[in-house]
Amino acid sequence: LVAVSKRQPDEKIDAALAAGQRVFGENRVQEASQRWTGRRVAYSDLVLHLIGPLQTNKVAEAVELFDVIEVVDREKLARALAKEMALQNRYLPFYIQVNTGEEPQKSGILPDQLDGFAQFCKDELALPVIGLMCIPPVDVKTDIYFKEMSFLKNNLALPDLSMGMSSDYLEAIKNSSTYVRIGSKIFGKRS
Ligand SMILES: *Cc1c(COP(=O)(O)O)cnc(C)c1O
Repeated sequence: LVAVSKRQPDEKIDAALAAGQRVFGENRVQEASQRWTGRRVAYSDLVLHLIGPLQTNKVAEAVELFDVIEVVDREKLARALAKEMALQNRYLPFYIQVNTGEEPQKSGILPDQLDGFAQFCKDELALPVIGLMCIPPVDVKTDIYFKEMSFLKNNLALPDLSMGMSSDYLEAIKNSSTYVRIGSKIFGKRS
């Protein structure tokens, strides 16, 4: 369970920590840094996932702060991450974001380009790819997209699949998701 803490009040985050939750997701480097830099000291077993779009000029900060990068979606970013991880000697596992609905407004690698991109990341950059991530189209049956993701993940023999949010996590689990990213269903509406 990745508890998505973006834009939630601190007292709710602290309650989740007190209840034993240790894996959290944030979608902005700046906001995550403010919230988690101090709490990291208190909770050494914290695992922070970056689940929102990453600009290359934020890569250094992201590699320093996060433990898992879920949003690798283009060659330029993969190259920047590889370079920065080597610089910091901090090799974070990462997921390739897949644009499973092939939506023009969404980021992510198109399904038919996934094989080539995964190979590029692994072979050319030696990046530790561990899984796939998607944000499927809203307002349609997400089931077909989840099924496709499961197929793609097995095809690449990757261990992890990050899919499923508050509205569709049960469907995602049925389709062998290994990480669900849930915000509002745990913490309530975001500000
Ligand atoms: C905000 C967000 C979530 C959580 O959404 P909820 O509907 O509140 O569960 C999950 N994944 C990503 C990528 C997000 O940006």
